Amino acid sequence: MAVAQEKEILCKEWLKKPKKLLIDGKWVDAKSGKSFKTYNPATEEVLAEIPEAGKEDVDAAVKAARIAFEDGRFHRKMTAAQRAHCLYKLADLIEKHADELAQLETLDNGKPISEARWVDVAATVETFRYYAGWATKLEGETINANNNFFTYTLREPIGVVGQIIPWNFPMLMMAWKWGPALACGNSVVLKPAEQTPLSALRIGELALEAGIPAGVVNIVTGFGENSAGEFLANHDDVDKIAFTGEDKTGQIIVKASAKTLKRVSLELGGKAPNIVFADADIDAAVKGAITGIFFNQGQVCCAGSRLFLEKQVHDEFMTKLLERVGRMRQGPGLDEKTQIGPQVSKEQQERVLSYVEIAKKEGAKLACGGSTPEDLKKGYFVKPTIFTGVKNDMRIAQEEVFGPVLAVIPFENMNDVAEQANKTRFGLSGAVWTRDVKKAHKFASHIKAGTIWVNCYNVFDPAVPFGGYKQSGYGRELGKHSIELYSNIKSVWVNIAD
Ligand code: ADP
Repeated sequence: MAVAQEKEILCKEWLKKPKKLLIDGKWVDAKSGKSFKTYNPATEEVLAEIPEAGKEDVDAAVKAARIAFEDGRFHRKMTAAQRAHCLYKLADLIEKHADELAQLETLDNGKPISEARWVDVAATVETFRYYAGWATKLEGETINANNNFFTYTLREPIGVVGQIIPWNFPMLMMAWKWGPALACGNSVVLKPAEQTPLSALRIGELALEAGIPAGVVNIVTGFGENSAGEFLANHDDVDKIAFTGEDKTGQIIVKASAKTLKRVSLELGGKAPNIVFADADIDAAVKGAITGIFFNQGQVCCAGSRLFLEKQVHDEFMTKLLERVGRMRQGPGLDEKTQIGPQVSKEQQERVLSYVEIAKKEGAKLACGGSTPEDLKKGYFVKPTIFTGVKNDMRIAQEEVFGPVLAVIPFENMNDVAEQANKTRFGLSGAVWTRDVKKAHKFASHIKAGTIWVNCYNVFDPAVPFGGYKQSGYGRELGKHSIELYSNIKSVWVNIAD
């Protein structure tokens, strides 16, 4: 297998350096001295020892962020243009180190290097550039409500923002959160996922090099429950929590916010309907179904995990789908030819395989995959898996598997599928494949979800909002909507009466 040779690993020397927390512009050890390991999911080998932040470290990070904020280091004492420059510079530095960062992401997460390069790193750069542009475009307004008063609004940063991110797109989720928070002039404390802390630490270094002042960005690596994540979510001096992860964790975050009524934005799970009508371009829809479920090993909250096929085209579609999936190359992410890598961890591999058993017991028919690949003895791999004959009320169609497992559900007609598509507690995304313009728009309006793709899947841009309906969360990331999440509006009344 043509895995990149050791000498080609650009982050090799960096990996050997002791890893630290970023607090107040300095790299420091966890006060407890505790650490945990991060693994390469393709080889099961330890990549690095990571400091485990505890309560005192989170307190120190929040304090540093608070001092930086109250001091106005990144908003009052800098012009918007200077703030923008820092973000542009950060984007440039990430681009300069693109190959190294792509390898780091692949090593830590497992994803194919081509995706790490062309999706994760490229989109991270674009997201920082997009929000750099926003820094100079934040405006208030004047309101002609009463001639006795000059009335205007100010758009101000919120303050100290805690950001808790998942492991599926580590650096991109960091960019989605840092970009708008920093454009608005907030101070942040970031808690990366324990499975994938590396790219955040490297980007933290680049952030300091880009001139982001000490204390404005802080990074605490560690765990969630009863650890850094929970301490951050519960901290009295944090003004807002932005969270991406599981819906159950989202509930815990909301409860934790109640005491000080923190602002909360949540991007949670999904169980997206991907609907193919008989009049669709079937070849395009087959490719879309594959991207929909197997991209990033299925570890995508907007994965098209419920594939609804109109009965007339079901068999033709399945033949084409299985043929293409059979040709997918699975292997270590560093292999340039790999299209599907390992799951992020043993825990995830076991979770996915347990859903295979659940689906079989429920009576779904295994059409392919359903096990670990015979030729890959090491690593947390699960073969691309498809179940046919699924019913929408089965667990495999209702619960988020977060792996390469597709549930295929046949349908009779428009009414039938319209009802089933929305029968889920989630509402993050959905897709419809049809050549009928009316049908496309009807479904775009009918499906209760934050993003609808018509004749495409997984298309993103930093300018286009993303977020959930129902139990997929609230608040919209990306676009100008994310600026709303990270700023406050203040109304000022000036008495000008004679
Ligand atoms: P997953 O189960 O897919 O890892 P989680 O929602 O558990 O998803 O994790 C997403 C992020 O939330 C991670 O950074 C994790 O450490 C953090 N996290 C998990 N549990 C908690 C918690 N109780 N409080 C705060 N953060 C948490």
